[in-house]
Amino acid sequence: MYEAFFRPRQVAVVGASAQPGKVGHDVLANLLAQGFPGQIIPVNPKAERILGAQGVRSVAELPEGLDLAVITLPAAATPQAVRELGAKRVKACLVISAGFKEVGGRGRELEKELGRALAESPGMRLIGPNCVGIIDTTVGLNATFAGTYPARGQLGFFSQSGAMCLAILDWSLDNQVGFSKFVSLGNKLDLSETEMLELMAADSETKVILGYLEAVEDGRRFLATAREVTRVKPVVLVKSGVTGAGARAASSHTGALAGSDAAYDAAFRQCGVLRARTMRELFNLALALAQQPLPKGPGLGILTNSGGPGILAADAAETHGLHMVSLRPQTVDDLRSFLPPIASAYNPVDITGGATAAMYGRALASMLGDPSVQGAVVISTPTATLKAEDVAAQICPQARGKPVFSVFMGQRSVSEARRFCVGKGLPSYEFPEDAVQAFAGMEAYARWLASKSQGPELVAGDKAAVAAIMAEMRRQGRRRMSETEARACFAAYGIGVARSQAAETSEQAVAAARAIGFPVVMKIDSPAVSHKSDVGGVAVGLAGEAQVAETFLEMTARIRRLMPEAWIRGVLVQEMVAGGRETIVGLARDPQFGHLLMFGLGGIYVEVLKDVSFRVAPISRAEAEEMVRSIRSFPLLRGVRGQPPADLAALGQALLALGSLAHDFPGLAEADINPLLVLPRGQGAVAVDARITLA
Ligand code: ADP
Ligand code: MG
Repeated sequence: MYEAFFRPRQVAVVGASAQPGKVGHDVLANLLAQGFPGQIIPVNPKAERILGAQGVRSVAELPEGLDLAVITLPAAATPQAVRELGAKRVKACLVISAGFKEVGGRGRELEKELGRALAESPGMRLIGPNCVGIIDTTVGLNATFAGTYPARGQLGFFSQSGAMCLAILDWSLDNQVGFSKFVSLGNKLDLSETEMLELMAADSETKVILGYLEAVEDGRRFLATAREVTRVKPVVLVKSGVTGAGARAASSHTGALAGSDAAYDAAFRQCGVLRARTMRELFNLALALAQQPLPKGPGLGILTNSGGPGILAADAAETHGLHMVSLRPQTVDDLRSFLPPIASAYNPVDITGGATAAMYGRALASMLGDPSVQGAVVISTPTATLKAEDVAAQICPQARGKPVFSVFMGQRSVSEARRFCVGKGLPSYEFPEDAVQAFAGMEAYARWLASKSQGPELVAGDKAAVAAIMAEMRRQGRRRMSETEARACFAAYGIGVARSQAAETSEQAVAAARAIGFPVVMKIDSPAVSHKSDVGGVAVGLAGEAQVAETFLEMTARIRRLMPEAWIRGVLVQEMVAGGRETIVGLARDPQFGHLLMFGLGGIYVEVLKDVSFRVAPISRAEAEEMVRSIRSFPLLRGVRGQPPADLAALGQALLALGSLAHDFPGLAEADINPLLVLPRGQGAVAVDARITLA
């Protein structure tokens, strides 16, 4: 299928025009300009030859089973053309025409009609509509209306935005960036990013896959494909639309914190896709991945001729979680033997403003010879005596085996040096942060490759018990489970829950407390109260019967006064769990990727602190561990200031259980255990507050 698009034997341009400036003209001219070896057939009712190419007057006159048809007709004429092409058993259709979904109204209808036309054409696949077109530099295929044609290179690029395509093509000319394949996806009626990953993974000319996305069409399919593709080549994506979309009504903590961006972040991480925040980051990383070997670890060495940029680089390394290595004594001694006495022979190695180009070369060689250094950033700032080109010439030959990045700060006097380096296969950047970020991306990718791919781990829960609760809710037309029901669901999947008993009178409360054992916790039990502490509906550490009876009367009376409309069933008397650390585990549902698992440090401040991590459910054991480790406050769980370490195994198991619950019950909309109290190692974890909402 991809051959028909990118290595077609024949290309028909439906809507070809003899009039310069029309898309149908420019596409044809571009196809003819690059020496593309296939047959090019303009289709136009009025003209037999356009730009010297022999054409036909209608689709009906085209040969049967043609490889690629490029459509540049007005939107309204496009569905019919696709039907006719389908009848001719055309294999691939590239719809450049705009005026579909993107303009709304009638355009939306036309896009639906186009979809129907495609469905009636078995075997035909479609790129677009509303796109700039496709390029394959290996064979000289330029089926676009772009005014520029890129250099041949090792980057495969796809983009949802056509404007972005045009800008990048233009930018690439001045920045020594070359492409293997270049695809404008447009409205993605048929082929989308997932197929591009497949296509570019299999393409021997493509070394790095890059993409700009506004949304992923089918999250689960994308995840499955990307997981495999990233094992073969690096994939770097910019996903825009970080803000917005997060504003949907949510009744749980997890729902409130899980915006669509959290889902993309989690999904990309889980399938090894590197996420770039900006187009600049995308190409910085692409250059590094295309030109340099992957690092064997996070140890970074920095070589500079001035303090400031060296510190900036070291700061950036810290931000990205890299490791500023300590050079071994041998390396330090070697550096001292030829550097000026005022130079710093420790990382960052500062060879000072008086350094010569030759010193750069020797110092870099010395640093790269140090086993702890896994990669190096070489920074050069303009000085009166130092010529950037000389530095470039000295450092390029030293970069072998370990990744090296050059930074020539400035512009006019250094652009030649940058050009030289990139030409020699040594990435070059304007600022230290760019280089460090590129190294960090490579290091993250190296870690992904080294990690074993592990399938999700499913916990066998008592499905029947959960199904019975859900059936009862459906019968009553309820979406929200009671606390007791939710607790039962979690317990059915092996999550520890606090012993609890409902009480409608103070006598019942006292009896419950006696059965559970003192001290106990008392919580208001009412479907109208969702966050109990907000209304003073939680009392902890009730030590004796009198206190239980008194608290029952006080709490129910006060909340009745506060919420006269609310039905108050009574209270929940619960075992008091001491010595646990408050965490939250939860589930929310994302429209693209399905269930998302959340973990964080819990309690009533979770929305304020937002120290949480997400993964698409269900997850593997390794992912569960990662989720726990990746929050900022993880050290609190590991144990600080004499605290014992928390039971991380129980915590991981709870996450796996929750993921399994979501897997078994797709109708689950949101779930929260807040808090899940995690006890010291070996003692488990206990859910003391539970919430589940169905879709
Ligand atoms: P809500 O979140 O509705 O306000 P919770 O049941 O989560 O109510 O209780 C609020 C806080 O009270 C918890 O975050 C926890 O600090 C404490 N707490 C609740 N139940 C228990 C318990 N059984 N043992 C110990 N502490 C508890
Ligand atoms: Mg709570």
